[in-house]
Amino acid sequence: MTGWLAVVGLGPGDAGLQTPQAAAVLAHATDLVGYDTYLARVPHRDGQARHASDNRVEVDRARHALTLAAAGAHVAVVSSGDPGVFAMASAVFEALEHGPDAWRALDIQVIPGISAMFAAAARLGAPLGADFCAISLSDNLKPWPLVLRRLTAAAGAGFVIALYNAASRARPWQLGAALDALRPLLPGDAPVVFATAVSRADEALEITTLASADPAWADMRTLVLIGTAAMRRIERPTGRPWLYAPRSVAS
Ligand code: SAH
Repeated sequence: MTGWLAVVGLGPGDAGLQTPQAAAVLAHATDLVGYDTYLARVPHRDGQARHASDNRVEVDRARHALTLAAAGAHVAVVSSGDPGVFAMASAVFEALEHGPDAWRALDIQVIPGISAMFAAAARLGAPLGADFCAISLSDNLKPWPLVLRRLTAAAGAGFVIALYNAASRARPWQLGAALDALRPLLPGDAPVVFATAVSRADEALEITTLASADPAWADMRTLVLIGTAAMRRIERPTGRPWLYAPRSVAS
């Protein structure tokens, strides 16, 4: 058997938001590798081995997956959302770069998925319709001052910001500090959205302003969108307003 490895994006949660290509690769894999919470979203198949691991051991998990593929297994490494956005694809290539030369001949594919920022934006209207960026608030792999520098540079340059990994038990104060750093740079009425568990049964969308944003609304399933002064808000007779980024911007 000739091995292969696919890094597969599962999308934000709802099965309808997973691509047919991802589903096909998952169905053909002999081995599934990933964080146990994500593996739980993949239907069980007879004869398929599951290698569940904790969330914090990405490179060990990537090495394990490459070792299995080199031995002939058909390996799917699963990620939520898109595997290239703050997820397993980088860990796989990091392990590949530093691993045995033989791994470079392996058949490796990255199967894209719908990232949380796109699922959240689609619920809200079109908040990412003009220039935007994505920043992870995780300071496990980069120093906090760098996170702050990137955030303030992005806000200062007028980007809408999609904040990943905004909060967790291990990350209790960072979102508050990030919002405090942004307050001097943006108007108090700049829209801020807390989009939690988008496309899942317990989805919650909280649209507020930078002045009123409370970091306690975020948990590890929350994507926080930071808007700009230019973002438009269309009120509706009932329900949430639409948010959109105008396509044209004055200088
Ligand atoms: N690869 C993933 C991101 C992994 S980082 C993607 O492309 O979406 C994990 C972070 O993603 C979470 O802390 C949260 O900020 C965000 N996230 C993942 N799924 C989400 C969902 N269904 N709703 C809102 N945010 C989500």
